Amino acid sequence: KMNTDIGQHVLKNPGIAEQIVNKADLKQSDVVLEIGPGTGNLTAKILEKAKKTIAVELDPRMAAEVTKRFQGTPAQKRLEVILGDVMKTELPYFDVCISNTPYQISSPLTFKLLATLPAPRTCILMFQREFALRLFAKPGDKLYSRLSVNAQMWAKIDHIMKVGKNNFKPPPLVESSVIRMVPKVPRPQINYDEWDGLLRIAFVRKNKTLRASFIGTPTIMNILESNYRTWCAQNDIPVEDGPAEDADGDAMDMGQEQAAEEDPDEAMEMDDDDVPDFFKEETNNRLQEALKKPSRKKRGKVAELVREKVRQVLEDETGLADRRARMCDENDFLKMLWAFNQKGIHFS
Ligand code: SAM
Repeated sequence: KMNTDIGQHVLKNPGIAEQIVNKADLKQSDVVLEIGPGTGNLTAKILEKAKKTIAVELDPRMAAEVTKRFQGTPAQKRLEVILGDVMKTELPYFDVCISNTPYQISSPLTFKLLATLPAPRTCILMFQREFALRLFAKPGDKLYSRLSVNAQMWAKIDHIMKVGKNNFKPPPLVESSVIRMVPKVPRPQINYDEWDGLLRIAFVRKNKTLRASFIGTPTIMNILESNYRTWCAQNDIPVEDGPAEDADGDAMDMGQEQAAEEDPDEAMEMDDDDVPDFFKEETNNRLQEALKKPSRKKRGKVAELVREKVRQVLEDETGLADRRARMCDENDFLKMLWAFNQKGIHFS
């Protein structure tokens, strides 16, 4: 019996399986990684085209079934079944990944594949439609989110085809889509924590201008100030403490946009928590915690300095102050991160 808790919806239409595998443009020399082979309907098509197939399957009954299916056939020697959870498995070398993915692990799996070195040539992945749409959404699209920017930072992602639920047994509740994900080569050399830290701030309220999300949100400015102090301490840069000259004029500078505190519910509504916190839960928690606390009323000299640095980056250096996160692509964020870091402003 199928276990739908771990996403066991088997592809019953061989035509679709064939189309999915064709999209991978396999070469005879390829090693293919398949995640969750189930009963082996995709596996059969992959085995016809690739030198070797490595299939990682969580369910021992499925692992046994797929092994048995190819036993005694010429394909047997070219199939390796690894029993285990793909998220906990150290992946062997592979050229291409093809998977009708268990939807519960869509996001962590995507980022695991994107972190794989050497990068696979291509990944052909079937996802729940909504998740697929978010992965390749472009600036301005309704579903454009932190997940979209984050994935598109590391890979080019295209939609390949829709697959209706009736092609599966048992049919899932949602429609599916197949996407192609081609990792960028060379891999962008950026610090993931810094990058994700910046995105988290920008996407807390993706419809606000970046000026409002940064300068107009005192709690965010407090985090950046504290990061700046840490950075100065680490780099032996003296900081000049003391009250700022106009320390009582806080509310004046918030601009037309409202500060986050005025609407705590909105401030707490993280746009999208789907991107795994690779090694740093802390970034997220710290942001969440900070957004709950009321901000300090008086600004000191350091706060003033940080504020001026942020203003310069957004207004003078990148010209992005009036843009909204939902309209920025990965290159805009990259430009911003670089400019911030140049000024000692850090996000992790
Ligand atoms: N590939 C088959 C097909 O297309 O017919 C089955 C796809 S089914 C949606 C997902 C498969 O992934 C199931 O066989 C399930 O047992 C397996 N699976 C679920 N979670 C997994 C995990 N964390 N690691 C490896 N396999 C997993």
